[in-house]
Amino acid sequence: MIAFPPDLAGSVIEISRSALMNNYAFLRKKIGRNAVMSSVVKGNAYGHSIPVFVPLAESCGIRHFSVFSADEAWQVLRARTCDSDVMIMGSISDEALEWAVEQDVEVIIFDLERLGAVLAAARKMGKQARIHLEVETGMNRTGLEPVTLDQIQALLHEFSGSWVLKGVCTHYAGAESTGNYLRVRRQMKRFRDAVEELHALGLRPERQHTACSAAALSYPEATMDMVRIGIAQYGFWPSRETWMHHYLKKPGEPDPLQRVITWKSKVMSIKEVAAGEFIGYGTSYLASIPTRIATVPVGYSHGFARSLSNLGRVLVAGERVAVVGLINMNMMMIDVTEVPAVKRGDEVVLIGTQDGKEVSVSSFSELSQNLNYETLVRLPISVPRVVVD
Ligand SMILES: *Cc1c(COP(=O)(O)O)cnc(C)c1O
Repeated sequence: MIAFPPDLAGSVIEISRSALMNNYAFLRKKIGRNAVMSSVVKGNAYGHSIPVFVPLAESCGIRHFSVFSADEAWQVLRARTCDSDVMIMGSISDEALEWAVEQDVEVIIFDLERLGAVLAAARKMGKQARIHLEVETGMNRTGLEPVTLDQIQALLHEFSGSWVLKGVCTHYAGAESTGNYLRVRRQMKRFRDAVEELHALGLRPERQHTACSAAALSYPEATMDMVRIGIAQYGFWPSRETWMHHYLKKPGEPDPLQRVITWKSKVMSIKEVAAGEFIGYGTSYLASIPTRIATVPVGYSHGFARSLSNLGRVLVAGERVAVVGLINMNMMMIDVTEVPAVKRGDEVVLIGTQDGKEVSVSSFSELSQNLNYETLVRLPISVPRVVVD
């Protein structure tokens, strides 16, 4: 065995337990005491890492997780430390349905073929499939058309004993934007109609759930029996509008959500560059005065977008400084001319706070024209995640 070097990576992502607990407490106040909070951990827990995040969420009381695919469900099952439930919202092949039934993983059903396949799998295995029916209400992505509900009922009747109806659900087409208000309202109405129809057909789903973070934060009546919370648990508002919706009700109060993630590196080396010299590859940055440059061992291969060349900001020695020159594959240069105290080994914050200053994912995202969601999920698996208080 060859020993690992003690310094594995150029950067580390810290996951804050206290921030997560704070966010759950805030969300719990919003949704009330009784609704189940399903923690959405697709996209490697929005970049926070399923193996690190799932046990942490469980230690904060979470007992239900939502994922997109069977492989993510497998990761949650491996990571969980108690008997938490897992629900697959999206992709699962017919072959994997048997696996899901075997593992008691809940699956969202959005078409008749899939319902037939999961019921056949359950019967074959002599187990009950745990299903949620997703009804089409106007997102027009996936979902059972209301006109097919009696076919669904017939199929369920044919396979009675092979299923448990864990829930009925839908997903809103943009609850994070007031521009979609009428569309969301119409979806709520259609959802209520579909639930009534199911009841009339003698089907009683255990839980009704429709809300993602934005809906849970902006439409209290969307909470129902369960909410599927992704971005907000990680400490981000789904959009500026969702934040304003909250802020205008409580003007002047500090942001109740705390970012769970901090991405940190260290100064790798420092160099003095004379006026008139270009910095890094090519001619994208000219030092017009004598300039002090610090190198940071993080580049686009680590998820720091190359489009942040000459644009990004990082924190070092408590100051916000500029990225200069092109982002390289494994490195970037920052201008520390105005921060003479900076020395090799000093902490550099790429996302997060340092001495009261913040580089937010959203500023980072806006500069690189990514959504918060996209920036987070792009943080590569190779950057180690560590839990801190
Ligand atoms: C991703 C997703 C969520 C969570 O969305 P957030 O905006 O991150 O809270 C909820 N429901 C479904 C179906 C999703 O795909």
